[in-house]
Amino acid sequence: MKREQAIDQIESMREPWDFLVIGGGATGLGVGVDAAARGYRTLVVEQADFAKGTSSRSTKLVHGGVRYLKQGNISLVLEALRERGLLCENAPHLVHHLSFIVPIYSWWDGPFYGIGMKIYDRLAGKLGLSTSELLSREETLKRIPTLETEGLQRGVSYYDGQFDDARLALNLAQTIFDLGGTAVNYMQVLSLIKHGELLAGAVVRDLESGKEYEVRAKAVVNATGVFADGIRRLDEPGAKTVLGPSQGTHLVLPKSFLPGDSAIMVPNTPDGRVLFAVPWHDHVVIGTTDLAVDDIALEPIATDEEIEFILTSIAKYLHTPPRSSDVLSVYTGLRPLVKVGDTRNTAALSRDHTILISNSGLLTIAGGKWTTYRKMAQDAVDQAETLAGLDERPCQTSHLQIHGWTRQHIDEPNLRVYGADAASVRAISNVDRGRAQKLHPELPYMEAEVVWAVREEMARTVEDVLSRRTRALLLGARASIECAPRVAHLIARELGRDEGWERQAVADYGKVARNYLVSSEANAHA
Ligand SMILES: Cc1cc2nc3c(=O)[nH]c(=O)nc-3n(C[C@H](O)[C@H](O)[C@H](O)COP(=O)(O)OP(=O)(O)OC[C@H]3O[C@@H](n4cnc5c(N)ncnc54)[C@H](O)[C@@H]3O)c2cc1C
Repeated sequence: MKREQAIDQIESMREPWDFLVIGGGATGLGVGVDAAARGYRTLVVEQADFAKGTSSRSTKLVHGGVRYLKQGNISLVLEALRERGLLCENAPHLVHHLSFIVPIYSWWDGPFYGIGMKIYDRLAGKLGLSTSELLSREETLKRIPTLETEGLQRGVSYYDGQFDDARLALNLAQTIFDLGGTAVNYMQVLSLIKHGELLAGAVVRDLESGKEYEVRAKAVVNATGVFADGIRRLDEPGAKTVLGPSQGTHLVLPKSFLPGDSAIMVPNTPDGRVLFAVPWHDHVVIGTTDLAVDDIALEPIATDEEIEFILTSIAKYLHTPPRSSDVLSVYTGLRPLVKVGDTRNTAALSRDHTILISNSGLLTIAGGKWTTYRKMAQDAVDQAETLAGLDERPCQTSHLQIHGWTRQHIDEPNLRVYGADAASVRAISNVDRGRAQKLHPELPYMEAEVVWAVREEMARTVEDVLSRRTRALLLGARASIECAPRVAHLIARELGRDEGWERQAVADYGKVARNYLVSSEANAHA
């Protein structure tokens, strides 16, 4: 997947595209894959990098949502469980089964959660993972030795899916290319083009070259997540706000806080949320929070209260409570929740997806979750093809293998996320032994991955490599800042940039990455 190739295609396209999709997160890339798989000429444009927004900042779960079961939203859980099963089959290199344990500290919670999980198993039907079970105190502690022992009665175990969100987004972008479509990062929609009253495309700017293009399209899909109201207002300046974003923060800790392969699920925090502590890439991700926000930023920042809340909430369940100095990284994302009335309680906003169609024909799709991106895309393309007068073609994605698909075991843990591409990444380090060198002693990544990211995954900046091609920024913000100069040098060699570019690239990365440090460390790096 090469950026120059995408630009060439935009420049040489003489006819309108069938689909122009705005936004390169889970939703937009999903729509791009669906449209391209139906044989439509498809272009996805992303203003920053693929998955730069919410789609790289999730809890990394492919799940039905046990909490929606508690709210009685059976149809949402059913749909998500079905999608969970499909995603496990379509991207086995990125999605795997994970055991979750609900630790039980009061005797009546055991049967309550035990029955709830049996319902969850039943809803999953034949796409279910393993079945849930009630565990003895001893078995619970064997699976999670770091649990607080005082008052622990037993545990309930159940299974859900886990994935690498940004890697899946990249693989979806690559799938679009594999299917003959085009996706391009750093390409921003500036305005919409209309023929009379009807939408006919958009003006986009290449943020690298500064060049602007008029992109004509039969169907235009707005899949810009929390930015969707902004695009709707390019179409109808007075359009009412429909998104009520909510901020969610996670902390990343060393694996020693949760050794073993099981995650902890706490069903009821003081603000009524579910709290997870999940093993991920040999670290532990803990979260999340739910904070209504007005400011819609591409790089949202965790508040001290959120960090404190996560640390004190998880401390009740671990015999050695984590301190802020244990935190390797803090990351925050904005949920694109769709408003029902004027509620400010974001935990009560719709987690279902919503499709809105404007008078000019702009189709906006928002809400939902990563797990259901494929179904969201199917619904959007079904509606858009009717709206745009395209011939109706059946959806092809239920059993479509996503780029990188393989069931082969890959020995090197850090290469597993590349799936079928792992051999090509390995080959870079075989040709040039220097590229087998690690980027940093505390990070699992090697130089060959930077080269691969630039050559084949459209990485353009240090942040693209350290935040989304590798997940270095999440696994260790400080370590990632320390290896930024080396990464900038490798990118500069691949892209033919000079030393001035390298210096600026490192400075730009530092500005972003400092927000992922807890405040004491951030001050030291200021
Ligand atoms: C804290 C948190 C935890 C979550 N955990 C989970 C989980 O464990 N499992 C799960 O299934 N879901 C989870 N979700 C939900 C899931 O992450 C989101 O539903 C999903 O990522 C939304 O994707 P999106 O594509 O709609 O939005 P985004 O990923 O935000 O994509 C929108 C994109 O549009 C781009 N854009 C905006 N304006 C323009 C423009 N003018 N031109 C071009 N591009 C533009 C933006 O740059 C952005 O990249 C979580 C969400 C949060 C916030």
